[in-house]
Amino acid sequence: MSPVMLETNTIVDVRATIVQNRRISSNVSIITINCPSIAATAKPGNFVNIKVSSTSQPLLRRPFSIHNVQGALIEIMVKSIGCGTALFCDSVEDSTVMVLGPLGSFFSITDHVFNTAILVSGGIGTAPMLFLEKTLAAQGKTVINLIGGRTKNDLLAQNLSNCRFATDDGSTGFKGTVVDLLHRDLPGIEKEGPIKIFGCGPNPMLKVLAKFSNDHHVACDISLESVMGCGIGICYGCSVEINTPEKGIRTILLCREGPVIDAKLLVV
Ligand SMILES: Cc1cc2nc3c(=O)[nH]c(=O)nc-3n(C[C@H](O)[C@H](O)[C@H](O)COP(=O)(O)OP(=O)(O)OC[C@H]3O[C@@H](n4cnc5c(N)ncnc54)[C@H](O)[C@@H]3O)c2cc1C
Repeated sequence: MSPVMLETNTIVDVRATIVQNRRISSNVSIITINCPSIAATAKPGNFVNIKVSSTSQPLLRRPFSIHNVQGALIEIMVKSIGCGTALFCDSVEDSTVMVLGPLGSFFSITDHVFNTAILVSGGIGTAPMLFLEKTLAAQGKTVINLIGGRTKNDLLAQNLSNCRFATDDGSTGFKGTVVDLLHRDLPGIEKEGPIKIFGCGPNPMLKVLAKFSNDHHVACDISLESVMGCGIGICYGCSVEINTPEKGIRTILLCREGPVIDAKLLVV
């Protein structure tokens, strides 16, 4: 079993123009960047490392999943949580940013036979799901989105189809976590044929999802989060432990061998 779906020969670092900045909630924006070379080779689950400011503050780039690809354009869904993301959310159209990518591993669509993909996401973890949904749909797969958030204001279902919602406070959809919703709905979905689960969200949610999919013997890829520096395996800032059948527990750099890994490898 390999945790790595990595192609390094296509990575580029380009100065790219922001062509649109669309605020979709009080703290989330969708930013469209003209990036033909990255758009041409990106795969769902890949990320880009962006220098969000032309000044030295913040000094380091920030990692963002590729939310969507349309021709020469890539879209990033960004949630303002600190200095870098706040600056990026406020970026002005026609300004430029340095974009390094596409980086990291990607969701594997070909490693298992399945008809239905269940995309399980929470909070800003919904960001990579549009690109993934479009790619799966183009291959004739049925896609069901299970989307979770603390309240209805945290659900980010922009342009996704076939969505079922879970909120902690019950303000929309199922009251409970998105993995509880999966637990409720999996038996019905499984009757339609083989499935694969794809997850992205806060790491605690992904641990529960990994345990659930492993216990139910369902194939599952998860996209993990960590603080990242360089994004290309030099700074060692994003090391995480995984558990492989061949080598037991070992450390990987999430920027290179992740962020997407087989859920079986997660140390839960
Ligand atoms: C592979 C990957 C893909 C990502 N994709 C997206 C995306 O599509 N959209 C999006 O909005 N965000 C995404 N993130 C998270 C995003 O990179 C962080 O929110 C961002 O780096 C924070 O920068 P900041 O300067 O705003 O926050 P800072 O001022 O640096 O930090 C603010 C707070 O957030 C915490 N923090 C910083 N980075 C992370 C992180 N990676 N995970 C959890 N907590 C963090 C800090 O510890 C601190 O408490 C992704 C992260 C990774 C690793």
